[in-house]
Amino acid sequence: MNKSAVIIGAGIGGLAAALRLRHQGYDVCIVEQNNYAGGKMGEITQDGYRFDAGPSLFTMPHLVEELFALFDKKISNYLQYEKLDVLCQYFYPDGMHIKAFADAERLAQEVEQKTGLPGKKIERYLKSCEIIYYLVGDIFLARSFHRASTFLSKTFLKAFINWYKLDPLRTLHQANQKQLQEPHLVQLFNRYATYNGSNPYRTPATLKVIAHLEHQLGAYFPTNGMYGIAKALQQLAIDVGVEIHLNAGVQEIVKQNNEVKGINISNTFVEADLVVSNADIVPTYKMLNQKLPKAILKYERSTSALVFYWGINRQFDQLDLHNILFAENYKAEFEALFDTKSIYPDPTVYIFISSKKVPSDAPRGCENWFTMINVPENIGQDWDAFIEKSRNNIQQKINTMLDVKIENHIVSESILDPRSLEAKTSSFHGSLYGSSSNGKWAAFSRHANFSKQYNNLYFVGGSVHPGGGIPLCLNSAKIVSDMIRDSN
Ligand SMILES: Cc1cc2nc3c(=O)[nH]c(=O)nc-3n(C[C@H](O)[C@H](O)[C@H](O)COP(=O)(O)OP(=O)(O)OC[C@H]3O[C@@H](n4cnc5c(N)ncnc54)[C@H](O)[C@@H]3O)c2cc1C
Repeated sequence: MNKSAVIIGAGIGGLAAALRLRHQGYDVCIVEQNNYAGGKMGEITQDGYRFDAGPSLFTMPHLVEELFALFDKKISNYLQYEKLDVLCQYFYPDGMHIKAFADAERLAQEVEQKTGLPGKKIERYLKSCEIIYYLVGDIFLARSFHRASTFLSKTFLKAFINWYKLDPLRTLHQANQKQLQEPHLVQLFNRYATYNGSNPYRTPATLKVIAHLEHQLGAYFPTNGMYGIAKALQQLAIDVGVEIHLNAGVQEIVKQNNEVKGINISNTFVEADLVVSNADIVPTYKMLNQKLPKAILKYERSTSALVFYWGINRQFDQLDLHNILFAENYKAEFEALFDTKSIYPDPTVYIFISSKKVPSDAPRGCENWFTMINVPENIGQDWDAFIEKSRNNIQQKINTMLDVKIENHIVSESILDPRSLEAKTSSFHGSLYGSSSNGKWAAFSRHANFSKQYNNLYFVGGSVHPGGGIPLCLNSAKIVSDMIRDSN
């Protein structure tokens, strides 16, 4: 008889863990509290518009491809995607506009022409990001930090000897300032700290690795939108025999001595040889009726998001799939996000328009604007007041920078804020990426992918090692499945 595994949560990490365990021969059952699979990677439809509700940027697609390859399935039968030529359009308050081309040479030309910074500097900067990736990408992103084997490996030794190239003693901002100097570009490359909800003025320069993922390994977009990734993984799971139970919220992880025995859903006990929780680590400890280790709670959470999903009744030729309207004072914006935990009146606005690539996402001649600002984690602020103020601030910024009266073109609206994100996905304080990377030791502070107390309990997803974001969640599933394989 096969061994059985229960996965709590059908987020991207849960789906990937289910597939990997199924490949090892387990009978796998996913239990998900929502009526859809994908967790933060969901979708919204309203008034003829479709929106990807959560993630919008897709990097490292090979991590998704691997899951299909495990079962000899052709990924193109489930998911198709294209590589983007333009990563993002950046608009600055002083009128500067930079088109971030994926091609390094074109980017260097664009930067030189627009800002006067010699293109060679950008090329050198991207090279320094690449060096970090090749030194620590594998250790930081794809291995457990809680197993001695990681620190005894040749890869670790190489990174250790070259530690100074990882630039861990400077902040991302300090490194960018020193290497790039030109303020528009410093701000552009500082922004990569937000890809895991962190503060560029506090996070170590090692996070330059994120720019490498986008600029050199590439950014992609599925032909049917981001939610297509979750749908494809869900379908693959069904096709290979994973059971998925939706509308099934787990109340308790049942334990006995140093083992877990299964889970309780609505007073029904489901037995399993092992349990993998894809729920945020804080509610997972609640399901265990146990206190979270103090060391985990000590580290501050990543930012959350305030998203206005706006149906727009016209098209904007100057905008692309990904667009950023930068704040004038970036440092002050991060002080509001992390120090005073408030909203900043002149926020950086991100506009993601999937209908640029998927025309059916909006009625003809219209666009679907996912308009997002970073906001602090929810610690009980007055979000209703913040939403009203932010809507106004964002619209004013768009009007000034794009020379429009956007309020006249919004025909439909729904909103995501930290409270609704937590209610929907149980993400503690509504943070998008678990704990932030603010500080030299933050990467080492995330919860391990296994329980030290219960032999057969494991954790995947954005709130545990190696952290949030689609690629890292997929890697956490890989780390867990390797651990389970090695323990047998
Ligand atoms: C607005 C927004 C924008 C983002 N942008 C990007 C981006 O551009 N690129 C990127 O890579 N990442 C982005 N992210 C982050 C990314 O979406 C997440 O890191 C990733 O999707 C988290 O996956 P996960 O495996 O941790 O599971 P989650 O998505 O957190 O899902 C966990 C699942 O567990 C379920 N669950 C919880 N408790 C229970 C229970 N008791 N019983 C049953 N089920 C339970 C939840 O319902 C949920 O479905 C964004 C996130 C948001 C919200």
